[in-house]
Amino acid sequence: ETSVLWFRRDLRCGDHPAMAAAGERADRVLALFVLDDRLLGPAGAPRRTFLFRCLRALSEQLDGRLLIVRGDPVEAVPSVARAVSASTVHVTTDTGPYGRRRDDAVCRLLADQGVELIGTGTPYAVSPGRVRKPDGTPYRVFTPFRRVWGDHGWRQPSASDPAEIAWVDPDAVRGGPASVPVPADDDLGETRLPAAGERAGLDRWADFRTDGLAEYDRKRDRPALDGTSRLSVYLHWGCLHPRTLLADLAGDQGEGANAFRRELAWRDFLADVLWHRPESARRNLDRRFDGMTHDTGAGAYERLARWQAGQTGFPFVDAGMRQLAREGWMHNRVRMIVASFLVKDLHLPWWWGARHFMSALVDGDLASNQHNWQWVAGSGTDAAPYFRVFNPVTQGRRFDPDGDYVRRYVPELRTIEGKAVHEPWKAKDGVPEDYPEPMVDHAEERQEALRRYGEISGR
Ligand code: FAD
Repeated sequence: ETSVLWFRRDLRCGDHPAMAAAGERADRVLALFVLDDRLLGPAGAPRRTFLFRCLRALSEQLDGRLLIVRGDPVEAVPSVARAVSASTVHVTTDTGPYGRRRDDAVCRLLADQGVELIGTGTPYAVSPGRVRKPDGTPYRVFTPFRRVWGDHGWRQPSASDPAEIAWVDPDAVRGGPASVPVPADDDLGETRLPAAGERAGLDRWADFRTDGLAEYDRKRDRPALDGTSRLSVYLHWGCLHPRTLLADLAGDQGEGANAFRRELAWRDFLADVLWHRPESARRNLDRRFDGMTHDTGAGAYERLARWQAGQTGFPFVDAGMRQLAREGWMHNRVRMIVASFLVKDLHLPWWWGARHFMSALVDGDLASNQHNWQWVAGSGTDAAPYFRVFNPVTQGRRFDPDGDYVRRYVPELRTIEGKAVHEPWKAKDGVPEDYPEPMVDHAEERQEALRRYGEISGR
């Protein structure tokens, strides 16, 4: 029996239940990846290039026995399965809206050929849809979800071992779509990416467990300290599975480990929301917000461009946006501040900001990104109350108390010492010449945001 193992967001060999399932059932397995333009298009250079590098790493792990084709998976996968006379195609189940539609279509076409599509596991510790209230409905609020999620528990890591599988040589496959090399990296400009692939992810995890985990709860909100794991990109592409991390943490009840588990639960929660409400990737979860007025006319794109370029005149916001440009990543606390600024100080639609994040982030992830944006915008499930408007200056003074984070990313302000860097307009010599004045008056825009909220909330 021959199987196809169709890789998607599971670019690893360790703890890979779908690989283990393929290896158990089949005598020969063809490893396949389909470059799908519908996903590559909106991805942006950092995420695309990181994917290409992961594919090179995976191909190396499989001694080159990874068939890469380009096209619509709905045509490509059945065609590859026919070319190798496969009786099964194994996948890690995709729970996002596009992936579900695509897999339904692939499944139907495979069935017409007598081939079974077998999904084993998902990219989450607990599969979306599993954790429910006693009455069977989904949780809309994180805290009870997390409790039940923890009680539900997760499987032990899978003992997948690529060395025990007879992989089909892709060069010997005849009659299917043409094999293509991994595309060349995009031009990344000034952006520097972390090392890609499973080995790099495991190394990062090992370093974080040794040097960061114990203090994670205390340092995770301080962007200058680099106290977070930076594992989001590896989790997104499945170079690591959260179950692997949770198994390593088993029995560790330290504050750091507990806080870290909680963040992994957030990731699962937001995927659960997307599974139940696929339309939430594009639309307000709280439909009252459909009536919110946004500025989309004259001047709106110019404001967006200043925000994107880190030229708002608010140092904490600008430092975040410049970190994003330089690293394809931004610290979580600062993501919240820049998102709040776009929505409540600039009055732009949250999906404009979300779209920019999806093209600039190396860890851009539909469930985590769209729902965190909705959380900030007040329209999400379990959202921050709209009337709580982040003040970029007080947030900066609180979470970057020495100003080091701002000075690292905004060189124009390097001569301003300490937390005074958050208010350059108060500096003795005024705002440095090459740095902009604040583009808005925060107090006024806060009032304006509340006024608009009043229109939809009846306050
Ligand atoms: P750690 O602090 O080390 O956390 C460990 C892991 O937990 C992360 O790798 C991530 O998988 C998960 N996690 C942590 N915080 C969150 C959260 N708030 N929501 C969901 N999962 C979380 N995360 C993404 O992975 N992709 C995105 O596209 C994304 N967009 C965001 C947009 C906005 C506006 C905001 C406020 C947050 C967004 N996040 C997103 C969540 C969070 O900022 C990142 O997961 C985190 O900064 C990644 O860094 P880390 O791996 O060092 O995190």
